[in-house]
Amino acid sequence: MSISFSKVNESLRASSCRWLVTGGAGFIGSHLIEHLLQHDQDVICLDNLSTGYASNLDALQVNLSTSQKERLKVTVGDLADYDVCISAVKNVDYILHQGALGSVPLSIEDPITSHRSNVTGTLNLFAAAKNAGIKRVVYASSSSVYGDETSLPKIEDKTGNLLSPYAATKAISEVYANAFAHSYGMEFIGLRYFNVFGPRQDPDGPYAAVIPIWVKAMLQGKPVFINGDGETTRDFVYVADVVQANLLAASVSSLAEPSRAFNVAIGDQISLNQLFHQIRSALLRIRPDLNIADPVYQDFRSGDVRYSTADFSRVREELGFEPIHSVADGIDLAVQWYSENSG
Ligand code: NAD
Repeated sequence: MSISFSKVNESLRASSCRWLVTGGAGFIGSHLIEHLLQHDQDVICLDNLSTGYASNLDALQVNLSTSQKERLKVTVGDLADYDVCISAVKNVDYILHQGALGSVPLSIEDPITSHRSNVTGTLNLFAAAKNAGIKRVVYASSSSVYGDETSLPKIEDKTGNLLSPYAATKAISEVYANAFAHSYGMEFIGLRYFNVFGPRQDPDGPYAAVIPIWVKAMLQGKPVFINGDGETTRDFVYVADVVQANLLAASVSSLAEPSRAFNVAIGDQISLNQLFHQIRSALLRIRPDLNIADPVYQDFRSGDVRYSTADFSRVREELGFEPIHSVADGIDLAVQWYSENSG
């Protein structure tokens, strides 16, 4: 049975557990760690700093007390090294596995590197968890597992052909989760994130996501490029709601199946053109001095899914997920952060 997020937070405050967050120096992982430390939990962060930053681990501690900060232990190590995983899971109560190379284009250029982090790393972690007697693992899957399935909204049991090696790594993680659940009596919750956004999402590098790239360009007075006609849609979910989904998944008392995948989204389909206007308006409210030009349209990017939105009734009914932030709320919070933190 599910409980509300406020009850989960109450029970966190009532007793301390030990959590392993892989990929904790990354965007989503750093928000998970921040929330856990704010609720007086002990946290181990395992990250190889390949796409994450030590500065994220500093930033998340800014509003914490000294005793809360002391509850964080950081291991810089690679999930693809089994011994690293064995050490990381020692005496752990809960695992929130976020560590992965999250880029679709990178996986197309270098599938072996993506496989090493995302598949070997995940298998190592699952095996280490099994050997340590950990009952449940919550792990990041992705909306990419829907591939070329065109029906909307996406429902968990209806997936299509995979369109990238990255999508394959996430689908294989789900396959391993199912196999481990049945072979070893463990529980696995795969959270299929749709397009997550919020503070600390990296605006730099060739594989950055659309919202941070655009906000940075607008802040710097540079052009914003839209791939295609801008009518491509996505289901954007604010990072605090992804934190909520992870903690509900860790806390739910029973599952319909020992290995279960859930969409994590808010079911609000928004086009890139709408997104552009929302971000521009939000930025101009706090930075009226900015001069933000209309977007520049360029070719569609091959392999991009045209329309995407999720049915999130399963995560709502079975985990008690209730997204708190609309896209507009999230954009206000994100642009505020980028405007204060862009270098
Ligand atoms: P991120 O790149 O900011 O964080 C991933 C973290 O994992 C980084 O800190 C990186 O250094 C670490 N990492 C990568 N390979 C590792 C390895 N072999 N060993 C140890 N650490 C390793 O990305 P994010 O957006 O925070 O994504 C977190 C998870 O969510 C990933 O599994 C990603 O695939 C998944 N996901 C993200 C989104 C999104 O919109 N951001 C959507 C769907 C799924």
